Amino acid sequence: MKLERLQRELRKLDASIVASERDGCILLEGEVEDYATAFAAGKLAVDKKRYLGVLNDITVKGFEQKIVLPAENDSSLEGMECDVLVIGGGITGCAIARELRRHELSVLLVEKGADVASGQSSRNGGVVHVGVNFSKGSQKLRYCVRGNAMYRKLAHELHVPYENKGQVTFARTKAEMLALEYVHRTALDKGVVDTKVMGRDELRKIEPSVPDWSVGGLFMGTGGITSPYLMTIALAENAVENGATVALNTAVLDMKVEGGLVVEVSTNRGTIRPKAVVNAAGVHADVIAQMADDRTFTIHPRVGTNVVMDKKAGWMVNTSMGKTPFTLTPQQLEGIPSDPISQAKAMVKTASSHTKGIALIHTVDGNMLVGPNADEVPDREDVSTDRAVVEKILASQQEVQPAVSASDIIAYFTGVRSPTYEEDFVVRPGIRTRNVFEAAGIQSPGLTAAPAIAVDIAMWVREYLLGMMDVKKNENFNPVRHVAPVLSELSLEERNQLIHDNPDYGEIVCRCEEISKGEILDALRSPLPVYSVDAIKRRCRPGMGRCQGAFCLPTVMRIIADEAGMPYEDVVKGSSDSRIVLGKK
Ligand SMILES: Cc1cc2nc3c(=O)[nH]c(=O)nc-3n(C[C@H](O)[C@H](O)[C@H](O)COP(=O)(O)OP(=O)(O)OC[C@H]3O[C@@H](n4cnc5c(N)ncnc54)[C@H](O)[C@@H]3O)c2cc1C
Repeated sequence: MKLERLQRELRKLDASIVASERDGCILLEGEVEDYATAFAAGKLAVDKKRYLGVLNDITVKGFEQKIVLPAENDSSLEGMECDVLVIGGGITGCAIARELRRHELSVLLVEKGADVASGQSSRNGGVVHVGVNFSKGSQKLRYCVRGNAMYRKLAHELHVPYENKGQVTFARTKAEMLALEYVHRTALDKGVVDTKVMGRDELRKIEPSVPDWSVGGLFMGTGGITSPYLMTIALAENAVENGATVALNTAVLDMKVEGGLVVEVSTNRGTIRPKAVVNAAGVHADVIAQMADDRTFTIHPRVGTNVVMDKKAGWMVNTSMGKTPFTLTPQQLEGIPSDPISQAKAMVKTASSHTKGIALIHTVDGNMLVGPNADEVPDREDVSTDRAVVEKILASQQEVQPAVSASDIIAYFTGVRSPTYEEDFVVRPGIRTRNVFEAAGIQSPGLTAAPAIAVDIAMWVREYLLGMMDVKKNENFNPVRHVAPVLSELSLEERNQLIHDNPDYGEIVCRCEEISKGEILDALRSPLPVYSVDAIKRRCRPGMGRCQGAFCLPTVMRIIADEAGMPYEDVVKGSSDSRIVLGKK
């Protein structure tokens, strides 16, 4: 849309909004009453043919984005020099740090949270997506398909659970079946293999929980499932094993850019001088890009809540399944002929790109995950949960699996996605700043895409650095992560031997998940040790079961305190200010 026309349209939303062109982008400024207006303006301004992206600087009266910063403040990184600074310890940043270490480069990853996977990388569904929903030519499609193909080997190397049972979307009508047939026929062209439209009887052999109302559906054979936080931790650990440094509780606060180069990066732990900078900062990636003078996009937070069901509900889904993402409102249906082909065409055209139709997931741990929703919100850091949202998710998914019941809920969590207004990834070398590399806008399917994004970013960084230094292959790089024994994976004989050799493996701490003291100690002695209850929960699962830690929490805290040599009351849940015990009585 031409600027004058866009301005006229924006005025209809709010008289204060002003649009202008800046550095190949469309810049929006003004102050509006509510976030919905600011969001609508951002959407209206998208014009991928004319502009690099939307810079939405519209403020909302009474709302100020607060960034949660670490409590730590010291000079432990003051003056540190490195070849590459990776900002953000989500799956994208951790995959990039590991990939960079395939070469002799000094790599420092900084993460503002108290652990890696502090953002959306620990708050997602864990689905390794197939990519059929993404449009041709998009970065989301390219990296999703490539990332998906890398997962099996990666999970094997890092010893992270991964299952490839496929994904299923159920059709309700003949028109929906035709729409799925269209998706199937275009899949190969998008690089997505192994899809098939099946009638309900054939589908039932793969997914026994075909709903009564379904006439059949689309099976997508490359769909998988993994543990998102374990995958992120494993990538970080393997990066560290191969020589990368990870600095937790470390937030990038500002940058000095001179002559088109980032020369200094200020953090709460001192100033770092990197040769190259990778921006993998999730919901704050546009803030980091702005610091680096390379912003061509704006992140608009989109929340999603997932509900975790007890393992006894695991039978309710075998694959990852859901309704088709084709929803035609009565208004959209108006004027469309009632024959299935016309309706199918309209469905494909109006299909939501935000939902892939996967809402019931059999996790790698045997639980069932239900959700998520997708709602636009102003706050990038608000991960609170809402009972009404949980009830809505359950009601919606009971249509697919009537046995879904609130009595099986053991936990729920919210994650904040980081889409751009253009709804595509921004994976590229810097445009104005030569030594910055963007891995931004990594919303779903970012978990799937991260390994492939890492390959490209590492390649571009290497090519850039080759202009100023010798970049040798790291002959000692070992892609295989060292792993401690996981008792649940061992035979009875193997367990007995292990317990005989080390009685700590015989002391069960978490009864729900059957986790031993020995496994908790192994997690505390890993290449990236984090002395918090949440970190241990993510690494080896005490507290993940039905009782959610009600029984084992004090024992886990005692083990952490003894191992770290800290007072019991100093053991925290997650961040350094999240104390569990206030003090001794
Ligand atoms: C509800 C939900 C469900 C999803 N389901 C799936 C799915 O099933 N499959 C799939 O493929 N994808 C899914 N996704 C998307 C996927 O989770 C993300 O695309 C992916 O985790 C993005 O990883 P990231 O590393 O880019 O971002 P993040 O994980 O958000 O990591 C960015 C990190 O940067 C840190 N950071 C930010 N600012 C600074 C700073 N100034 N200094 C230092 N550190 C900073 C943050 O603390 C954060 O840890 C889902 C997302 C959500 C929210």
